[in-house]
Amino acid sequence: MSCDFSFRHYAECAERIGASDHDIEMIHDIDFEPNNVLAMAEIEHRYGISSTYFIRLHARTYNPFALPHLPVFQRLTKEYGHNLGLHFEPFFYAPSQIREAITQERSMLGFALGFEINSVSIHEPARFGSISPEDIPIGMKYYCWDAPYYAGKKYISDSGSRWREGCMCEHLHREKLIILTHPDSWYNRTSAENY
Ligand SMILES: [Zn+2]
Ligand SMILES: [Zn+2]
Repeated sequence: MSCDFSFRHYAECAERIGASDHDIEMIHDIDFEPNNVLAMAEIEHRYGISSTYFIRLHARTYNPFALPHLPVFQRLTKEYGHNLGLHFEPFFYAPSQIREAITQERSMLGFALGFEINSVSIHEPARFGSISPEDIPIGMKYYCWDAPYYAGKKYISDSGSRWREGCMCEHLHREKLIILTHPDSWYNRTSAENY
């Protein structure tokens, strides 16, 4: 198995994850374009994986309320059984507004998609700062490397199209694992398909 960011290798990993009885959770931050999310969602569905896709509301490159992106996100749940989460951007608010902002954005996104949003992750926390877990509305699951939910679990990420601790396929022996991938980083033959 050779490691790269091809959907071929993604499918090899997904097959192993789907067959594993370990606690392995797959999450995805949609940072730039939703172009790849259905390809990724289909692969996961094929191997019995239910993952969570986090959607931005302030991206310059896509709009979850607009055609053609709204139906793409709806298909993630309706066709493939995945979850949708809010990829929250604290930069747009004062610290005192964060809790209210998450509540409002969660509500807007959920209403538009016709799907309840129960998860939130933070966009670029390393550069623009994270938030306090106390600002997470009751009943929402908080995904971020400093989230209490991550305690006791190994967390790996392909941020910047680079696995800092080795490809996800090298971690599948772990009992508890959270794998964050960015659909923008994956391709069939070359990254030029995406950007
Ligand atoms: Zn690999
Ligand atoms: Zn992000």
